[in-house]
Amino acid sequence: MKNKELYLYERKHNNLGDFVVWMAFPGIYSFSLSSLGYLWMFKTIDEIDGVQIERICSDTKSPKFRVKDVRLFGFSFSFDTDFLTIFSMLEKYKIPLKSCDRTNDEPLIFAGGPVVTANPEPYKEFFDFFIIGDGEEVNAIAVEICRTSKDRKEALKRLSEIEGIYVPGLSQKVKKLTKKLTECIYTPIISEDAFFKNTFIIEMARGCANRCGFCLASYLNLPLRCVPYEKLLKTIELGLTYTNKIALLGAQISAHPHFHDICSYIYNRIQAGENIEMSVSSLRVDAITPDVVKTLVAAGQRNSTLAIEAGSERLRKTINKNLSEEQIFNAVKIARENNLNGLKFYGMIGLPTETQNDLESTVKLAREIKKINKGFDLSFGFSSFVPKPNTPFQWCGRENTKSLEEKAAYLKKELHKLGISTNISSIKWDYWQAVLSRGDESLNDFVLEVYKQGGKLGAFKSAAKKLNIDTDYFATRNYAFTDKLPWDFIEINPGKDFLIKENNRLLTDFI
Ligand code: SF4
Repeated sequence: MKNKELYLYERKHNNLGDFVVWMAFPGIYSFSLSSLGYLWMFKTIDEIDGVQIERICSDTKSPKFRVKDVRLFGFSFSFDTDFLTIFSMLEKYKIPLKSCDRTNDEPLIFAGGPVVTANPEPYKEFFDFFIIGDGEEVNAIAVEICRTSKDRKEALKRLSEIEGIYVPGLSQKVKKLTKKLTECIYTPIISEDAFFKNTFIIEMARGCANRCGFCLASYLNLPLRCVPYEKLLKTIELGLTYTNKIALLGAQISAHPHFHDICSYIYNRIQAGENIEMSVSSLRVDAITPDVVKTLVAAGQRNSTLAIEAGSERLRKTINKNLSEEQIFNAVKIARENNLNGLKFYGMIGLPTETQNDLESTVKLAREIKKINKGFDLSFGFSSFVPKPNTPFQWCGRENTKSLEEKAAYLKKELHKLGISTNISSIKWDYWQAVLSRGDESLNDFVLEVYKQGGKLGAFKSAAKKLNIDTDYFATRNYAFTDKLPWDFIEINPGKDFLIKENNRLLTDFI
């Protein structure tokens, strides 16, 4: 299987190091090959002298190294429910799940990624340490410390003194790491077995300056950082020497000052006869210009996703998504006139201050777009609001499940009448996501129990019942600004005072 992988950097084949690291992806092999952050983390450790590293996925059958030789075992933790796969991987290799049960014979277990950067507390008993924030550089320091410490006790003590590393039980305050994007991050391995087959993924920008009140991708990654244009071009050229498929990634790639130049560059190469396929992560409505759409179409994209978040202008303003109806209509017109086949609109239900009027506005908007753009493929996707740590809406409780399900059913029915297909995330799963998202350390036993009971929806409910946990406390309760929050010990810019101000500005001024 592995010989179908093409490495885009030179590996140290004469690496004789005896310090073995497993870098784990809590999912199947094909997904791991399309995970930019995971692969880049692997590359940064792979380039350290004297270290041997192996990638491990949930479906890895026979690893090259034996677990008894592994000293460090790192997990990428990107989704709230990744803990389920992580626990099963630890058990597969007979590693005790709780950190306190591990000895010097077991590897040190760590995790990094957006979920644990935002709030590691519900999982703190299972990991020896966490990387909080951008881990590209601190990885190498962590490896060096673990390699040169006589035992786990010494390693953890030394790790707790490093900025951006959280060692439960030892660290007091932890500062989130924010890296300057002076280089371009890309998938260092290309494979036809990847979920996005043979695709070269490039990170154009990190963060989003728009600061929608609910958005973790924005607030966890402020300020918006853009890769320098020349580096970006050079990296695209590198990718195109190996494959014709490239994907541009970033929460707000259109905010890159050279986004249009990149599009023209690709467009011109296609016009000159090259076969290049390019895809982009979802675009902001105001990024839809004729040039951009022409490039996407020439590069093989037939549909695109536009995140409008809410159907009414009032609610969009309230969440800081300042997007007028006129801009939305204009974007659809440009998309259609420049030969996209269709658009998918992405929205949320249950956002703070939402009323039935806002839902009716969504339906009205869909009706009008449909009327003006006959034959154009329109669809809608919705998820329900989940309060996320370190955002201005972190204090806002989620609406109850019954009322959200009624809202979901209303939208589905009304959009169906218009002939528009609708996809709505599971309201029940979103509820448990909210519990974990704002959870505290008391949830460690809960997540373990959920895992033991099989990890399905029913397991969450019955684990909460068994352990007598009031999960509504985490999911639906409005918190006061004076409440101590489980993730307060993580220092993230712009800080709590700013979040309070922003919460006041958004939720008071526009109601
Ligand atoms: S525009 Fe998108 S990525 Fe940016 S803050 Fe809003 S929701 Fe987040």
